[in-house]
Amino acid sequence: PLHDLALRDLDIELARYRADYAALQVQQLALDITRGKPAPEQLDLSTAMLALPGDGDYVIDGIDCRNYGDLAGLPALRALFGEVLDIAPANLIAGGTSSLETMYDVLSFAWIHGTGATGPAWSSEPVKFLCPVPGYDRHFAITESFGIEMIPIPLVSDGPDTATIRELVAADPQIKGIWCVPTYSNPSGVTYSEQVTRELLSMDTAAPDFRIFWDNAYAVHPLTGDAPPVLDVLSIADQEGHPDRPYVFASTSKMTFAGGGVSFFAGSPDNVAWYLGHLSQKRIGQDKLNQLRHVRFFVDAAGVRAHMRKHQQILAPKFDLVTSILQRELGNSTIASWTQPSGGYFVNLEVFPGTAEHVVALAHAAGIALTSAGSAFPSGDDPRDSHIRLAPTLPSEQELRLAVEGLCTCIRLAAAELVRR
Ligand code: PLP
Repeated sequence: PLHDLALRDLDIELARYRADYAALQVQQLALDITRGKPAPEQLDLSTAMLALPGDGDYVIDGIDCRNYGDLAGLPALRALFGEVLDIAPANLIAGGTSSLETMYDVLSFAWIHGTGATGPAWSSEPVKFLCPVPGYDRHFAITESFGIEMIPIPLVSDGPDTATIRELVAADPQIKGIWCVPTYSNPSGVTYSEQVTRELLSMDTAAPDFRIFWDNAYAVHPLTGDAPPVLDVLSIADQEGHPDRPYVFASTSKMTFAGGGVSFFAGSPDNVAWYLGHLSQKRIGQDKLNQLRHVRFFVDAAGVRAHMRKHQQILAPKFDLVTSILQRELGNSTIASWTQPSGGYFVNLEVFPGTAEHVVALAHAAGIALTSAGSAFPSGDDPRDSHIRLAPTLPSEQELRLAVEGLCTCIRLAAAELVRR
């Protein structure tokens, strides 16, 4: 450990790390591992969709997909993804091309009108949200933009810390919601256990209109083996006496085309009616031609799973590469730890406390773009300044190797400089 080194030895290490960093800068890299975008080869898996539904194929189940109407989406696609997500088609709405937009809409509807037929509008009083950390920066950005106070909640190995949540929600009626990514969470890779899920859906809350924003973005995105069975949250919520608590979201952004797939909303019958009622003020129907394209492409739930295995074959070697380089370069040190995710899009990296911002700045100056330090925390505030989100999906293996090796040089230098100070 750096802390245990005699000053003279520490200076020798520091000089070595500075020389390594100077050598890194000479390479003039231009690498970007900032965001979890699919790689071009992943997008290639779906290019056949561009020819679908094809000239003359636009009617399904008597619905002319070229025309207005059917705001709840194509029944055939709702049935197909109902099987994938274990949700009855009646409770599942197939929407536009972005689930993040759907989440923004749902929060807006609650903000303007309240969650029930008669309000109260969330905007009529201060609102707080629970934010499991590390979490998805764009979730936090949405709540921040509404002026909602965000309360960080530690995420542990089987989901957010329910003991802390239970205490908070029981005491404070201003806590109206929580962001959850239940499968292969962004960026920790954590999958919620059934017990945690049940606790979240059953606990007493001071706010009668407390809602769980259940963003199952990575439900069928394993990196090793098969994805865990999707928990039937709507039935669990029903059994636990809070049928209206979960708002469920999903999308095909990481299955077909990112930002060009289909998004989904699901909820209790009352929530579905509430959502469609407000949505009908925004649009007349969905892009059913895009939805039909997805029906024709996947055919059935088995088609979705087979397609996701192809993604897995492309992604698993990249994640293995990242974790094997981290292990080789830093495995014997005490200055960093990281996750070995079994699914999703990210590796969670913890560097020496107090150095994450410096590591990102060093990497940036060496031509390696990383997500801003702290981005996985509400308002970008990582109290330990130690968390960095790695997104290995987009770069080629060659680029990834250079980026992660360079990153390790930055991690060592930043830690040694802090200890020497
Ligand atoms: N939810 C999570 C947890 C994500 O990680 C992402 C994208 O990275 C999204 C939602 C965005 O989904 P969409 O493209 O459907 O808006």
